[in-house]
Formats: sequence, C-alpha cells, structure tokens
Amino acid sequence: MYPLIRLFQIIIFLPIFIGCAQNSDIATVAPVPTVTAITIPTAPPTATARPTETPLPTTSHTPLPPTNTHTPTASHTPLPPTDTHTPTASHTPLPPTDTHTPTASHTPLPPTDTYTPTATETLPPTATATQPPSPTPTEHPIQHVVHISVDGLNSTLLADLVANDQWGEYDAFRRLMDEGAYTLNGRTDYDWTVTLPNHTTMLTARPAFPQPDLPADTHHGYAGNGVPFPGETLHNNGNPAVEYVTSVFDVVHDHGLKTALYATKLKFSLFDVSYNETHGAADMIGEDNGRDKIDIYDNNPIAISMSEALHYRMLESLVTERPHYAFAHYTEPDAFGHAFGWGSDDYNFAVREVSGHLGELLATIEFDPVLAGRTAVIITSDHGGSETGHSNASIPMNYTIPIFVWGPGIAAGTDLYALNQTTHVDPGNGRPTYTDPAQPIRNGDTGTLALHLLNLPAIPGSYLDHAINVYSVLK
Ligand SMILES: [Zn+2]
Repeated sequence: MYPLIRLFQIIIFLPIFIGCAQNSDIATVAPVPTVTAITIPTAPPTATARPTETPLPTTSHTPLPPTNTHTPTASHTPLPPTDTHTPTASHTPLPPTDTHTPTASHTPLPPTDTYTPTATETLPPTATATQPPSPTPTEHPIQHVVHISVDGLNSTLLADLVANDQWGEYDAFRRLMDEGAYTLNGRTDYDWTVTLPNHTTMLTARPAFPQPDLPADTHHGYAGNGVPFPGETLHNNGNPAVEYVTSVFDVVHDHGLKTALYATKLKFSLFDVSYNETHGAADMIGEDNGRDKIDIYDNNPIAISMSEALHYRMLESLVTERPHYAFAHYTEPDAFGHAFGWGSDDYNFAVREVSGHLGELLATIEFDPVLAGRTAVIITSDHGGSETGHSNASIPMNYTIPIFVWGPGIAAGTDLYALNQTTHVDPGNGRPTYTDPAQPIRNGDTGTLALHLLNLPAIPGSYLDHAINVYSVLK
C-alpha cells in the first residue's frame, strides 16, 4: 500500500511545487536537493574521465620532462640530510682518486676551509628562492659546474623568440632569465667570431689573436676552425710565445677534481689531443693526477651532427660519473643557421631543440641527490650569426652573444652588468678591444667564472683572469 500512497502524494503536490518554482526567487534553490541527489552518483565518472581528455603536449615541441615542474615543490626543494657529504648506501661516493685532496697550494674543501663570501658576494637566502638551499654551512655551495656553449646562438634572435613565446617552447631560456644572472649583450673574442678560436678563448681565458697593447704571450693564437690534423694541438699550432696553453681542464684536474668534455663537432678533438696523456702538462699541484686533463671525453664521430644522442649520454654521465667540471657543446643553431639562415623557421626550431635540452639538464640537476643545490650552469655561445654566416667579426649580430649563469646562491633575474658595475660596462652596440677601459662581459670570461664557482684559482698565465660577480649587486 505504501507505494500507492506515495504516488498519490506526488500527484497532489507536484502542481503546487511547480507553481512555487515559477513564482519565487527561491525557485532556483528549491530544486537543488533533487538535482544534486541525481548528479552526485554520476559526478565521479565525469571527473575521472577528464584527465584522459586533457590535451597532451604536442610531440613536435619537446618540452621539459613531466617531472620538470617550474614551481619548486616540497618534494624537491630541500636536500635530505643524508645527502650532505656523508656517503650513504644509496649515494656512492667518488672513488678515492677523485676526492678533492687538499694541497699546499690550494686547500679547497676541508671543513676548516669554509667558503666565506666576500662583501661583494654575500649569498642572501632570497636569491635562492627558486633553488634548493645550500647544503651545509661548511660545504662550498657549488661543487659541480656544467659549462655549455650553444653554437651560433644569436642574442637578438633569442630575445625575440623568448619574448614572443606563447607555448613555452623556449621555457628553459625563460627559466635561466628568471632564476639566474645573465646578459644578452655579451661579447665574443674581439678578432674572431668562429667556433674553435672562441671555444679556445672560453677554455683558456686568453684573446685569440695578438693585441696591440698586450704582451706577446697573452693570446692563445689558435686560428684554425676545421678538424685538426693528427697531432695538432693548441701548443704546437697556437701562439709560439706560449709553450703550453693552460686550460680550465688543467686547473680542475690538477686539483684532483674530475673533468668532462661532451662535444657535437669532431673538431673538438683539438682539446682532447691538446690535453691528453701525451700533450697535457705534468700535474705539479698536490697529488699527481696525471697529464690527461680531460677525464671523460665524448665526441660525436662525424664532423657535424645533431646533439640529441650526445645530450642524453651527457645527462647519464652527469648523474653517474658526476664530473666536477663539464664542458658541453650543442651544435644545432649553427648548423641550421648555415643551412637556412639565422632567424629562419629552421633556425628557430634548432633553438627550440636546445631549449628542450637545457630544460632537461636543469631538471636532471634538480632531481639528482648529489647535484641538486651544488651545481651551477653557465651557458654562452661562440658567436651569433647573420644571414647564413658569422665569420665577419665586425658585425653586431655576429659578435653579440648571451651569457647565463644559474645555480645555488646566484642572483636571480639579474643583469650581469648590474652585478659588475665596477669592472664591466654594457657596450651597447659597440665592440670594445681587450684593452678598452670599458670592458664588456665576454664568453672568454666564462672559463674563469667556472673555476671561481668551484673555488679554484684562475688559469695560470691567462689574461681574462678576473671572475665576474654573479651573486649580489655590489653595495
Ligand atoms: Zn658556424
């Protein structure tokens, strides 16, 4: 009987209910209980269906990996206590030969050698807002440096791409600008805007060519830009006034630290041969670590090739072999610039590829328990480019290059010239010589910077031996 009575009640009250609904403001509220009562059971299916309908990132743009979130999260900002210097089961310590052995001439990392920032290099916690905190007060904040050259990266074109980036395709460069110290108005070597002479300048902190007002043993003198002939080195085919052209690799290696070179052009064999067990100098600093200054050397076997395969081998090497100083070279923008023109769609595609690689590099560092919070990245270029070339060193589009510095304690979103007001001057469109009183910041300053970040001395005999400041604005 009860269902019949219930049906009768509905027939009686339904017209009254509808009348209220049509004539009252409460109408919109009154039906809610019935509506929600019906929709609640159906809500979960629609909610769970949503993720599969969310558009996936397009495959043509190789973005940062899924774990590469730009907003630091609780899961990766702090360094777990087990990561601080005490080897654990999960963190395999470096073999004894790679430990940083204190020497008479350089006492790098013992607890007593606390890194004490100078007045010009205070490390305010605010500067590290987007970075993991420095490991411990007794540990030098930066123990690894990845020094990257993006071949043919034109500052003006890069600035346009980042400014007009609607889809996050150049996100890594945006990150470097937001989170690091940088300039888009860096300079190449004064006389040369080609690959090998500029990379030699980055790695030796010397001008490429003789300078009118400087001693004859100042420059490195290497002018070649092809694949070196067998046995050719920086020492036997460079400046005859310099018996041995010391490099960043020498300083890092001779102090007992591990070095690496990952290069996408075969011509980079110049560095491997110049600093191998035959041509490298004897190690006169502390323990004898041998003449071979480049511990890990990976070079694509053909003259010019894309960097993707080498890039992934490098990421693997960085988290397994963990070199303290690694130099890496990405070739794409130069290759596509020569083939299709600087600023062409193909050139832009190449820069986008490199941005993807750099994003993966930053993510790899952030999520590695040893590298996170202890690794700085320096990114620059050997030259820019215009039309389909870059060899004319008097053209601003060729001699203007970017410099990015990213890592723990490094000033975020800050212009490098603002950080170096007492020593360097933004050159505008100019091209100052090495002896101009107003010096620009050059790609040739980045090798010395890498050593400074590692708390190591400048390259003996080098000219660009003053490290630029990357921490906080001079007071
Ligand atoms: Zn080129």
